[in-house]
Amino acid sequence: LIRVDGLTKSFGDNHVLRGIDFQVDAGSATAVIGPSGSGKTTLLRSLNALDVPDAGVVTVADATIDFGGVYSKADLTRYRAQSGFVFQNHNLFPHKTVLQNIIEGPVVVQKRPVAEATDDARRLLDSVGLLGRADDYPGQLSGGQQQRVGIVRAVALNPRVLLLDEPTSALDPELVGEVLRVIRDLADQGWTMVVVTHEITFARQVSDQVLFVDGGVIVEHGAPDQVIGAPRHERTATFLRRLT
Ligand code: ATP
Repeated sequence: LIRVDGLTKSFGDNHVLRGIDFQVDAGSATAVIGPSGSGKTTLLRSLNALDVPDAGVVTVADATIDFGGVYSKADLTRYRAQSGFVFQNHNLFPHKTVLQNIIEGPVVVQKRPVAEATDDARRLLDSVGLLGRADDYPGQLSGGQQQRVGIVRAVALNPRVLLLDEPTSALDPELVGEVLRVIRDLADQGWTMVVVTHEITFARQVSDQVLFVDGGVIVEHGAPDQVIGAPRHERTATFLRRLT
Protein backbone atom coordinates (compact mmCIF):
# COMPACT_ATOMS: atom_id res chain seq x y z
CA LEU A 1 0.00 0.00 0.00
CA ILE A 2 3.05 2.23 0.44
CA ARG A 3 6.10 2.18 -1.78
CA VAL A 4 9.08 4.51 -1.37
CA ASP A 5 11.95 4.63 -3.87
CA GLY A 6 14.98 6.87 -3.54
CA LEU A 7 13.49 9.36 -1.09
CA THR A 8 15.83 12.23 -0.17
CA LYS A 9 15.30 15.36 1.91
CA SER A 10 17.67 18.10 3.03
CA PHE A 11 17.19 21.10 5.27
CA GLY A 12 19.80 23.52 3.92
CA ASP A 13 23.03 21.53 3.82
CA ASN A 14 21.77 19.02 6.39
CA HIS A 15 21.10 15.88 4.32
CA VAL A 16 18.53 14.30 6.60
CA LEU A 17 17.23 11.54 4.31
CA ARG A 18 19.84 10.12 1.96
CA GLY A 19 17.99 7.58 -0.15
CA ILE A 20 15.19 5.71 1.55
CA ASP A 21 13.49 2.66 -0.01
CA PHE A 22 10.82 0.50 1.59
CA GLN A 23 7.35 -0.94 1.16
CA VAL A 24 4.39 -1.41 3.46
CA ASP A 25 1.77 -4.09 2.80
CA ALA A 26 -1.91 -3.29 3.17
CA GLY A 27 -3.16 -4.14 6.64
CA SER A 28 0.31 -4.27 8.18
CA ALA A 29 1.99 -2.24 10.92
CA THR A 30 5.49 -0.87 10.38
CA ALA A 31 7.59 0.47 13.27
CA VAL A 32 10.37 2.97 12.55
CA ILE A 33 13.12 2.96 15.17
CA GLY A 34 16.55 4.58 15.40
CA PRO A 35 18.66 7.12 17.25
CA SER A 36 17.59 10.70 17.90
CA GLY A 37 18.13 12.91 14.87
CA SER A 38 18.44 10.00 12.44
CA GLY A 39 15.54 11.25 10.29
CA LYS A 40 12.62 9.10 11.50
CA THR A 41 10.17 11.97 11.92
CA THR A 42 11.20 13.54 8.60
CA LEU A 43 10.63 10.19 6.91
CA LEU A 44 7.14 9.91 8.39
CA ARG A 45 6.27 13.53 7.56
CA SER A 46 7.36 12.89 3.97
CA LEU A 47 4.60 10.29 3.64
CA ASN A 48 2.03 13.05 4.25
CA ALA A 49 4.10 15.82 2.59
CA LEU A 50 4.17 17.72 5.89
CA ASP A 51 7.82 17.79 4.84
CA VAL A 52 7.99 17.79 1.04
CA PRO A 53 10.75 15.45 -0.19
CA ASP A 54 13.44 16.73 -2.59
CA ALA A 55 13.41 13.55 -4.68
CA GLY A 56 12.01 10.06 -4.72
CA VAL A 57 8.95 8.31 -6.06
CA VAL A 58 6.42 7.65 -3.33
CA THR A 59 3.12 5.81 -3.56
CA VAL A 60 0.67 6.06 -0.68
CA ALA A 61 -2.46 4.05 -1.49
CA ASP A 62 -4.06 5.68 -4.56
CA ALA A 63 -1.57 8.53 -4.99
CA THR A 64 1.91 8.44 -6.51
CA ILE A 65 4.24 11.43 -6.72
CA ASP A 66 7.69 11.71 -8.26
CA PHE A 67 9.05 14.41 -5.98
CA GLY A 68 12.05 14.95 -8.24
CA GLY A 69 9.73 15.67 -11.16
CA VAL A 70 6.77 17.88 -11.91
CA TYR A 71 3.59 17.61 -9.86
CA SER A 72 0.67 19.89 -9.17
CA LYS A 73 -0.90 21.25 -6.02
CA ALA A 74 -3.86 18.97 -6.73
CA ASP A 75 -1.50 15.96 -6.83
CA LEU A 76 -0.16 16.99 -3.44
CA THR A 77 -3.66 17.41 -1.97
CA ARG A 78 -4.64 13.96 -3.19
CA TYR A 79 -1.40 12.48 -1.78
CA ARG A 80 -2.03 14.09 1.62
CA ALA A 81 -5.59 12.79 1.74
CA GLN A 82 -4.40 9.17 1.69
CA SER A 83 -3.03 9.30 5.23
CA GLY A 84 -3.96 10.55 8.68
CA PHE A 85 -1.21 11.94 10.90
CA VAL A 86 -1.00 11.61 14.69
CA PHE A 87 1.39 14.15 16.20
CA GLN A 88 3.64 13.66 19.20
CA ASN A 89 1.79 16.52 20.92
CA HIS A 90 -1.65 15.72 19.48
CA ASN A 91 -2.10 19.30 18.11
CA LEU A 92 -5.74 19.55 19.27
CA PHE A 93 -7.43 22.95 19.03
CA PRO A 94 -7.61 24.17 22.65
CA HIS A 95 -10.74 26.28 22.12
CA LYS A 96 -12.77 23.51 20.52
CA THR A 97 -14.36 20.64 22.41
CA VAL A 98 -13.21 17.08 21.93
CA LEU A 99 -16.16 16.43 19.61
CA GLN A 100 -15.59 19.63 17.62
CA ASN A 101 -11.91 18.72 17.20
CA ILE A 102 -12.84 15.34 15.77
CA ILE A 103 -15.57 16.42 13.35
CA GLU A 104 -13.68 19.46 12.02
CA GLY A 105 -11.83 17.51 9.30
CA PRO A 106 -14.74 15.31 8.17
CA VAL A 107 -17.16 18.29 8.02
CA VAL A 108 -14.94 21.10 6.74
CA VAL A 109 -12.54 19.19 4.50
CA GLN A 110 -14.60 16.17 3.47
CA LYS A 111 -17.96 18.03 3.45
CA ARG A 112 -19.71 15.27 5.34
CA PRO A 113 -23.03 16.06 7.06
CA VAL A 114 -22.54 17.19 10.68
CA ALA A 115 -24.99 14.62 12.07
CA GLU A 116 -23.22 11.74 10.34
CA ALA A 117 -19.74 12.94 11.35
CA THR A 118 -20.96 13.39 14.92
CA ASP A 119 -22.35 9.85 15.07
CA ASP A 120 -19.05 8.48 13.79
CA ALA A 121 -17.06 10.60 16.24
CA ARG A 122 -19.15 9.38 19.17
CA ARG A 123 -18.73 5.77 18.13
CA LEU A 124 -14.95 6.22 17.84
CA LEU A 125 -14.76 8.04 21.18
CA ASP A 126 -16.68 5.17 22.76
CA SER A 127 -14.17 2.69 21.33
CA VAL A 128 -11.33 4.46 23.17
CA GLY A 129 -13.31 4.90 26.39
CA LEU A 130 -13.85 8.65 26.06
CA LEU A 131 -17.48 9.07 25.05
CA GLY A 132 -18.18 10.82 28.35
CA ARG A 133 -15.59 13.51 27.52
CA ALA A 134 -17.02 14.56 24.14
CA ASP A 135 -18.02 18.03 25.34
CA ASP A 136 -14.89 18.71 27.38
CA TYR A 137 -12.04 20.90 26.18
CA PRO A 138 -8.61 19.32 25.58
CA GLY A 139 -7.17 21.17 28.58
CA GLN A 140 -9.56 19.29 30.87
CA LEU A 141 -8.13 15.92 29.79
CA SER A 142 -4.98 14.08 30.82
CA GLY A 143 -2.13 13.81 28.31
CA GLY A 144 -3.05 10.20 27.58
CA GLN A 145 -6.70 11.11 26.99
CA GLN A 146 -5.68 14.00 24.72
CA GLN A 147 -3.51 11.67 22.69
CA ARG A 148 -6.34 9.14 22.37
CA VAL A 149 -8.49 11.98 21.00
CA GLY A 150 -5.63 12.86 18.62
CA ILE A 151 -5.71 9.29 17.31
CA VAL A 152 -9.52 9.34 16.97
CA ARG A 153 -9.27 12.61 15.04
CA ALA A 154 -6.95 10.97 12.49
CA VAL A 155 -9.10 7.82 12.27
CA ALA A 156 -12.30 9.87 11.78
CA LEU A 157 -11.03 10.98 8.37
CA ASN A 158 -11.02 7.32 7.41
CA PRO A 159 -7.65 7.53 5.63
CA ARG A 160 -6.04 4.54 3.93
CA VAL A 161 -2.96 4.79 6.15
CA LEU A 162 -2.31 6.01 9.70
CA LEU A 163 1.01 7.74 10.41
CA LEU A 164 1.93 8.08 14.10
CA ASP A 165 4.90 10.19 15.16
CA GLU A 166 6.24 9.11 18.56
CA PRO A 167 2.68 9.08 19.91
CA THR A 168 3.70 8.33 23.51
CA SER A 169 7.00 10.15 23.96
CA ALA A 170 5.43 13.32 25.39
CA LEU A 171 3.46 11.36 28.01
CA ASP A 172 4.09 10.61 31.65
CA PRO A 173 5.11 6.95 31.95
CA GLU A 174 1.86 5.89 33.63
CA LEU A 175 -0.17 7.20 30.66
CA VAL A 176 1.79 5.40 27.94
CA GLY A 177 -0.03 2.08 28.28
CA GLU A 178 -3.52 3.39 27.54
CA VAL A 179 -2.34 5.00 24.29
CA LEU A 180 -0.35 1.95 23.17
CA ARG A 181 -3.46 -0.15 23.81
CA VAL A 182 -5.48 2.01 21.40
CA ILE A 183 -2.77 1.72 18.72
CA ARG A 184 -2.59 -2.04 19.22
CA ASP A 185 -6.38 -2.29 18.79
CA LEU A 186 -6.18 -0.36 15.51
CA ALA A 187 -3.43 -2.67 14.26
CA ASP A 188 -5.57 -5.67 15.23
CA GLN A 189 -8.48 -4.16 13.29
CA GLY A 190 -6.30 -4.22 10.18
CA TRP A 191 -5.34 -0.56 9.85
CA THR A 192 -2.25 0.00 7.73
CA MET A 193 0.05 2.05 9.91
CA VAL A 194 3.55 3.42 10.18
CA VAL A 195 4.60 4.39 13.67
CA VAL A 196 7.81 6.11 14.76
CA THR A 197 8.46 4.90 18.26
CA HIS A 198 11.02 4.62 21.02
CA GLU A 199 8.93 1.85 22.62
CA ILE A 200 10.95 -1.13 21.44
CA THR A 201 8.90 -3.76 23.26
CA PHE A 202 5.74 -2.35 21.70
CA ALA A 203 7.40 -2.28 18.27
CA ARG A 204 8.34 -5.91 18.64
CA GLN A 205 4.90 -7.03 19.81
CA VAL A 206 2.68 -5.03 17.46
CA SER A 207 4.54 -4.47 14.20
CA ASP A 208 4.86 -6.76 11.20
CA GLN A 209 7.94 -4.93 9.94
CA VAL A 210 10.65 -2.87 11.63
CA LEU A 211 12.76 -0.25 9.86
CA PHE A 212 15.96 0.73 11.68
CA VAL A 213 16.99 4.20 10.50
CA ASP A 214 20.41 5.70 11.19
CA GLY A 215 22.11 8.61 9.46
CA GLY A 216 19.26 9.12 7.00
CA VAL A 217 19.24 5.59 5.56
CA ILE A 218 17.46 2.37 6.44
CA VAL A 219 20.30 0.30 7.84
CA GLU A 220 18.18 -2.77 8.40
CA HIS A 221 14.59 -3.85 7.92
CA GLY A 222 12.63 -7.01 8.46
CA ALA A 223 10.41 -8.88 10.87
CA PRO A 224 10.58 -7.57 14.45
CA ASP A 225 11.98 -10.81 15.84
CA GLN A 226 14.83 -10.52 13.35
CA VAL A 227 15.65 -6.79 13.50
CA ILE A 228 15.10 -6.42 17.25
CA GLY A 229 15.69 -10.00 18.35
CA ALA A 230 18.67 -10.87 16.14
CA PRO A 231 19.99 -7.74 14.39
CA ARG A 232 22.36 -8.37 11.50
CA HIS A 233 24.07 -4.99 11.63
CA GLU A 234 26.39 -3.74 14.31
CA ARG A 235 24.75 -0.29 14.27
CA THR A 236 21.36 -1.85 15.05
CA ALA A 237 22.82 -4.00 17.81
CA THR A 238 24.60 -1.01 19.35
CA PHE A 239 21.41 1.09 19.27
CA LEU A 240 19.37 -1.66 20.92
CA ARG A 241 22.03 -2.33 23.57
CA ARG A 242 21.97 1.32 24.61
CA LEU A 243 18.24 1.09 25.29
CA THR A 244 18.50 -1.74 27.76
P1 ATP B 1 14.04 12.19 17.29
O1 ATP B 1 13.99 10.74 17.62
O2 ATP B 1 14.95 12.97 18.20
O3 ATP B 1 12.70 12.84 17.13
P2 ATP B 1 14.33 11.85 14.42
O4 ATP B 1 15.07 10.61 14.06
O5 ATP B 1 12.86 11.82 14.32
O6 ATP B 1 14.78 12.32 15.87
P3 ATP B 1 14.18 14.13 12.69
O7 ATP B 1 13.23 14.84 13.58
O8 ATP B 1 13.66 13.57 11.43
O9 ATP B 1 14.92 12.98 13.49
O10 ATP B 1 15.36 15.13 12.39
C1 ATP B 1 16.49 14.79 11.61
C2 ATP B 1 17.33 16.01 11.38
O11 ATP B 1 16.61 16.95 10.59
C3 ATP B 1 17.78 16.75 12.62
O12 ATP B 1 19.11 17.13 12.44
C4 ATP B 1 16.88 17.96 12.63
O13 ATP B 1 17.51 19.04 13.25
C5 ATP B 1 16.64 18.22 11.17
N1 ATP B 1 15.33 18.86 10.90
C6 ATP B 1 14.12 18.29 11.05
N2 ATP B 1 13.13 19.14 10.68
C7 ATP B 1 13.74 20.28 10.30
C8 ATP B 1 13.26 21.54 9.81
N3 ATP B 1 11.95 21.79 9.63
N4 ATP B 1 14.18 22.49 9.51
C9 ATP B 1 15.49 22.24 9.66
N5 ATP B 1 16.01 21.09 10.11
C10 ATP B 1 15.15 20.11 10.43
